[in-house]
Amino acid sequence: MATKFNFIILFTAFSVIISSLNAQDNSQLIQSLQVDVVYLSSNLLEGREAGKSGCEIASKYIASRFEEIGLEPKGLGGSWFAPFDFQYKANPHETTGGEPRISSNVVGYLDNSAKTTVVIGAHYDHLGMGLPGASLYVGDPAIHNGADDNASGVASLLFLAKYLKNSNLKNNNYLFLAFSAEELGLIGSKKFVESPTINLENVNYMLNMDMVGRLNDEKVLAINGVGTSPTWKDALAKIDVDGIKVKTTDSGVGPSDHTSFYLKDLPVLHFFTGQHTDYHKPSDDSELINYQGIYDVSMYIATLIKDLNSVGKLVFTKTKDESQQGASFKVTLGVMPDYVFDGEGMRIDAVMEDRPAIKAGLEKGDIVIQIGDVQVNSIYDYMDGLAKFKKGDKTKVKVKRKDAVLEKEVEF
Ligand SMILES: [Zn+2]
Repeated sequence: MATKFNFIILFTAFSVIISSLNAQDNSQLIQSLQVDVVYLSSNLLEGREAGKSGCEIASKYIASRFEEIGLEPKGLGGSWFAPFDFQYKANPHETTGGEPRISSNVVGYLDNSAKTTVVIGAHYDHLGMGLPGASLYVGDPAIHNGADDNASGVASLLFLAKYLKNSNLKNNNYLFLAFSAEELGLIGSKKFVESPTINLENVNYMLNMDMVGRLNDEKVLAINGVGTSPTWKDALAKIDVDGIKVKTTDSGVGPSDHTSFYLKDLPVLHFFTGQHTDYHKPSDDSELINYQGIYDVSMYIATLIKDLNSVGKLVFTKTKDESQQGASFKVTLGVMPDYVFDGEGMRIDAVMEDRPAIKAGLEKGDIVIQIGDVQVNSIYDYMDGLAKFKKGDKTKVKVKRKDAVLEKEVEF
């Protein structure tokens, strides 16, 4: 109750500020980005944990901003919200059960009566008081404000909604998606692609902003997924926005919501200004955000959308990391890697029946840190390690399980 009451007062105050932003110069656009980030990452929203009240308040704020910008609601039943239920599991070793929870994606639409639709997304949930398994903070429970992760991406989403609403870029429709439960394993985006509120066959491409609030002095912007369409590399090479330098990776699979769209064979890009020591800690606060940086990144994305306006539907390509997997492995462990794990090693998301891993006693949640002689710091090291074996070989696999390091003998 107290939180909701505060929300109304604060929201009213912010609305006054927003409505006073009539002129279109940069400083006012940047101020609007700041208002969104400061509100979403304030203590009032208690870290926006999916299924909890702070997250629901954030979803209502985003819906009210969509409405103010002049989007159409495109959730369920003509509302702004596409609710979904899921099982929350505090312990990743649990295979069944969990706590039933409900959260919502927030969905706004800009209909230009075009044949194709561009999807633009950002997750708005975060770690609450420090979700176990995701928080990197050691200490008493504390609000994880998530200003960079990912109030920054939501602010950019709202900026682009306003920009495209006022633009003459009408060869695509635009779907704006604020995802929930990303931090719990890309749940909101997975639910959306399973039950989309538009026809996914008409989606041109998907852009995801996850952590765009810490553009550094060198202005290096990471863009992941450039292998998902032959159009991306040339299109990005042409863009020159305020000295932004781009560092790209090909893979369409990564630790954020674009992965869910890539797995539906859609071209995707993920925009990211990089890791920092406040990542997944209570100190990821709004004072540390580079607001001019969010503006620059958003203008970079707006320029990309503008350059692609007349290009038509992009061709999709599967990325290397995936096709290599099928081609060069003679053996498998029989596990599902956890693609959203961003610690050191390869965390096992599931073990399959009657396969080498389960026979060796490996479990869901174990983190593989060595295979044979190969030290495993990432999922790519894990793949390199596996490629060294053939059927019938035996080797030692080292895994971390909670605080212990175990060594298991695996026969492929
Ligand atoms: Zn995160």
